[in-house]
Amino acid sequence: MVTNLPIYLDHNSTTPCDPRVVEAMLPFFNSAFGNAASRSHAFGWQAEEAVKCAREQVAKLIGAEPGEIVFTSGATESDNLALKGVFEMYAGKGNHIITCNIEHKAVLDSCKHIEKLGGEVSYLNVKENGLIDLAELEAAIRPQTILISIMYANNEIGTIMPMKEISAIARKHDVLLFSDAAQAVGKIPVDVNKDGIDLLAISAHKMYGPKGVGALYVRRKNPRVKLTAQIDGGGHEKGMRSGTLNVPGIVGLGKACELCLLEMEEEAVRLSSLRDKLENALLQLDGTYLNGSREYRLPHTTNISFKHLESEALMMGFSKELAVSSGSACMSATPEPSYVLKALGLDDELAHSSLRFGIGRFNTEEEIDYAIDQITKTVSRLRESNPLREMYKNG
Ligand SMILES: *Cc1c(COP(=O)(O)O)cnc(C)c1O
Repeated sequence: MVTNLPIYLDHNSTTPCDPRVVEAMLPFFNSAFGNAASRSHAFGWQAEEAVKCAREQVAKLIGAEPGEIVFTSGATESDNLALKGVFEMYAGKGNHIITCNIEHKAVLDSCKHIEKLGGEVSYLNVKENGLIDLAELEAAIRPQTILISIMYANNEIGTIMPMKEISAIARKHDVLLFSDAAQAVGKIPVDVNKDGIDLLAISAHKMYGPKGVGALYVRRKNPRVKLTAQIDGGGHEKGMRSGTLNVPGIVGLGKACELCLLEMEEEAVRLSSLRDKLENALLQLDGTYLNGSREYRLPHTTNISFKHLESEALMMGFSKELAVSSGSACMSATPEPSYVLKALGLDDELAHSSLRFGIGRFNTEEEIDYAIDQITKTVSRLRESNPLREMYKNG
């Protein structure tokens, strides 16, 4: 029996904190409340030690050195710091950045800002499967290119970019590579050295950690990457990001990374089998289509279009039972169809009839069965009352 309603199937938007993460964080709100920058007493040393441990946990998950981790307030800030920080620092070398048109708004809007400052940005299109074309990437590189910014995995369709191939191209042309990996880290193996990535953004709340904390990996050798700080002050985080460290949040991020490293492999097997069960059932319904690559994608995500049905109507139909999302949550305040789905070639109508399902650590098979039942019922109820149904049936 499914008792906790609505069932949360929107884990690409955010995840609940794992209880083990909460437990690790709790002492750092009161008994161990010290400022990690206080060098003169035990309160400060205790906080500093906890931050050091978290830095090691984060670094280990992505194959980095602890000294290469800069703590931030989340992936949005990490994206801003990577893009604007490289743009400012490498102004003497060039002003051109290459990215793609299905990046998160934190990347796209940072690029817009950089364009206002005199930077030039090339926005690569993606293919129908949601991946960039490597030949197009290489052709876009100019002598002034200082940075390639390609997300590791997409938040709406879950597709995984070919990072190793992308980094080989970046290396060949001596261009830095940044990747927004907020959706990938903790879900699939990410290794900054094997993948050849120079800067990488992480967010705790996408991997069962707390909201408002994240990190930016900044490579220290081969090559040593330098950044212009975007938040100035007390010189914390080697001067790259000032501000008193969010010690409980950082401890939570560290614990979340440790758990993902231990459990990711097994969890991915379980989640992908639940995802496939849900997806296969929904794709049996009339007029449903899978969006993005079936092959190159996160284990827990699926994005499906329901032709002639509006995603808003679908979600209203089962809002007491299921929590899912249409397009990205950041966009759901606006009536615009998802720019990610449009970039795949979907027309406005089909983009408006798409739902994203993100299965998570605490979902059960019973919940997935229940979800399949609820969605199936809602789809047939709406199709019955939909005047387009006859037209659709008659072609
Ligand atoms: C969630 C997300 C972000 C923003 O992360 P915050 O920590 O919420 O600022 C950036 N990029 C991607 C791909 C995301 O999924």
